[in-house]
Amino acid sequence: MTPELQQAGAAKLAEFAAKSAEGQTSGDRSAGYGRVLGAEPDFAHGVALYLDDITVTFDGFRALNALSLAINVGELRCIIGPNGAGKTTMMDVITGKTRPDAGTASFGSNIDLLRLRENEIAQIGIGRKFQKPTVVEQLSVFENLELALKADRRARASLFSRLTGAQLDRIGETLQLIHLLPEAQRTAGLLSHGQKQWLEIGMLLMQEPKLLLLDEPVAGMTDEETERTAELFLSLEGKHSLVVVEHDMKFVDQLTEGWKKVTVLHEGSVLAEGPLSDVQANPKVVEVYLGR
Ligand code: ADP
Ligand code: MG
Repeated sequence: MTPELQQAGAAKLAEFAAKSAEGQTSGDRSAGYGRVLGAEPDFAHGVALYLDDITVTFDGFRALNALSLAINVGELRCIIGPNGAGKTTMMDVITGKTRPDAGTASFGSNIDLLRLRENEIAQIGIGRKFQKPTVVEQLSVFENLELALKADRRARASLFSRLTGAQLDRIGETLQLIHLLPEAQRTAGLLSHGQKQWLEIGMLLMQEPKLLLLDEPVAGMTDEETERTAELFLSLEGKHSLVVVEHDMKFVDQLTEGWKKVTVLHEGSVLAEGPLSDVQANPKVVEVYLGR
């Protein structure tokens, strides 16, 4: 990354950065974890996320009904199921947006997610991609990534400091990963829908999440963009745990490579689990979801 590239639009960036920096303090990673939790997530047992017996009711309606689910460290898990099955509500519980009426949720073996606030959950390493991208359209692709890096409360860098060599390298690597290196200086607002989604994923990656939650990430993408998104997620597998909610079965097939476990949600609980071909052949799954 060149200094010219780094300086491009620095004034504009500072303006946006100042806005988004309100109330944010710097501090290194351990200070961040320590302040919030007194401990880092413990992944020694191989489990990244553990939901047990989670129930969420909205005016008496059970959106989640004794849902239990475990995601392993580094696992890429696809979650499918009909509209209203509770997929988004499950993500709301994991990220602290919705509090369940009953059940337990832990990150690693030691961190009780139900005791943390939304921002604390983001800080300990759970990133969520919403369907509507939140990229800053007026900034360049590069500046959006820079902003995401510097907005990370754990980062040592102040919002106005020059990027360190290591930070520039990280932005460069991320640009490559999300297929946007040639678009680095382009205004984000001019990107295609798919490219904006990738930028959003890149911004999440700048915060080094251990667990990534992706709700219908390829909705509205072209076939080619969808395929490249699957390649991107496959390249993240192992380094991160990923939970991907999606209706596009071709995409799910590509992600699961014929053998990985897929979870089918229905009426707020797990209806079936197994390789895609098995759950697709499951009469219960056909009846409530695929047969429609
Ligand atoms: P999915 O993402 O699988 O389509 P959701 O988790 O969005 O399903 O919704 C599950 C059910 O809970 C739906 O019937 C939905 O209408 C209901 N629901 C979700 N959020 C709320 C809410 N904030 N208030 C009332 N009902 C809700
Ligand atoms: Mg949903």
